Amino acid sequence: MTTTTSSMQTHAPLGSTLRIAIVGGGMGGLATALGLARNGFTHITVYEAAKDLGFVGAGIQVAPNLARQLQRLGVWEHLATDAVKLESADVRACASNEVLVRVPLAHVTERYGQPHRVAHRSALANALFQGCREAASYVTVHFNTNVLDVDFGDPRILVKERGEPGNGRWVKADIIIGADGIKSVIRKQMLAKHGEEDRAQDTGQASYRIMLNRTQMQDDPELLALVDANSSFRWIGPRRHVIAYPISDHTIFNISTTQPDINFAAAPTATYTTRADKQAMLNVFQDFCDVVQRMLKMVPEGEVCEWKLRVHSPLETWVEGKVVLLGDACHPTLPHLGQGASQAIEDAAVISVVLSRIDDPADINIALRIYQRLRKSRTEFLVSQAAAAGRALHLTDPEAQALRDEAFRQVANGGPNPDKWLDRQVQDFVYGFDCVADAERQWVKLFAQEKSSANERSV
Ligand SMILES: Cc1cc2nc3c(=O)[nH]c(=O)nc-3n(C[C@H](O)[C@H](O)[C@H](O)COP(=O)(O)OP(=O)(O)OC[C@H]3O[C@@H](n4cnc5c(N)ncnc54)[C@H](O)[C@@H]3O)c2cc1C
Repeated sequence: MTTTTSSMQTHAPLGSTLRIAIVGGGMGGLATALGLARNGFTHITVYEAAKDLGFVGAGIQVAPNLARQLQRLGVWEHLATDAVKLESADVRACASNEVLVRVPLAHVTERYGQPHRVAHRSALANALFQGCREAASYVTVHFNTNVLDVDFGDPRILVKERGEPGNGRWVKADIIIGADGIKSVIRKQMLAKHGEEDRAQDTGQASYRIMLNRTQMQDDPELLALVDANSSFRWIGPRRHVIAYPISDHTIFNISTTQPDINFAAAPTATYTTRADKQAMLNVFQDFCDVVQRMLKMVPEGEVCEWKLRVHSPLETWVEGKVVLLGDACHPTLPHLGQGASQAIEDAAVISVVLSRIDDPADINIALRIYQRLRKSRTEFLVSQAAAAGRALHLTDPEAQALRDEAFRQVANGGPNPDKWLDRQVQDFVYGFDCVADAERQWVKLFAQEKSSANERSV
């Protein structure tokens, strides 16, 4: 695999003058900081509420479109040893374990220039953070620091460090990037400015995230074969599914489920992740096949984590003046396409490109509008595809299930795959797209259009 240079690029005309504040040091925030530093920005500050990189005990799909950006950011090498290359993906019936379709993934490398990989979420977060540390002269990350408010007129944010007395202090910036995830304060304030309510909504779905060590599985040859395979496995059933794949060089088997949200709905809380009860999890999947049951039973008590899955209806705009949203803050998604973090990182790449092209601070808003034009329809389409995949996987009507299962069997004959992340057309759209090349290609045209609209607005 080729890697991009890890040296700082210095072509942004305003790189040394603009102060950029990033709210949130998750996947999108860290990638933005790093992308801006790579493009020549030198005053980048990230404010992260958590005390460190946070709870990241789960697997993550590193599809070709994400790997491409990680290479550009110069952090691929930090992730390379953890990532496992997938050569195939199974979709299986939940009760019988029948393989409905086995999709070979060799074409992914041939078609998109990168294999499909899976990795540990913490390996990805650490790779991005390591990149930020290497760019430490340009990027400062403040952990334990909560952003409480934003002023859109004279761009500034109200920040408060944990334990700091008082109500926080206002910090000015030339550009503020809200990468603060599904619970975004910046989104909420942006909507409030237009008299709108935040519309984050429950999907009625939740997800258990579990990890088994290879050693835990070593006495079960059938399970051992799963962790040793270069494959992912999805077992589908009414209203539920389980997806599992090896990560961390096959030393860990990552298991993620989706099921109706019962626990969060029964005890509403502001937290979207919680330690969960193992027996409750076993009850939810009691009608799944023996191999799934054995896997779930191996999980030590106290190591089951449950995530509540929430989304937000599409926003009218992601931009207000010199403040902009990115990642889950503006397009939170169900995880069924494995693209949430990838799209946040694509956002980061595009925002870095557009800001590095302007040479007049008066054009900041124009650059941010161009970012929105380049990103909004793509991300919203993928959010809709993830929801559609969930509906297809979780069908309850036996006749509809039979039709879907037949569609799975017809994939080998060129039919569409109801599991959207394995569908060729969706893969072409998702993996075959280089967001940076696209931004660079479209920049001149979009800049002229936005400049002319801005001029019209000002007369
Ligand atoms: C069950 C599940 C499985 C998933 N699997 C995949 C997968 O396989 N592949 C994939 O690409 N994506 C996956 N995702 C989605 C992915 O995790 C998210 O889309 C991605 O993390 C979004 O990145 P982000 O930076 O926008 O938000 P986040 O990663 O949520 O980061 C937001 C950050 O902002 C911080 N923050 C919030 N508010 C404030 C504040 N006021 N002040 C300061 N800091 C603040 C938070 O602490 C957090 O660190 C999955 C998600 C779920 C729920």
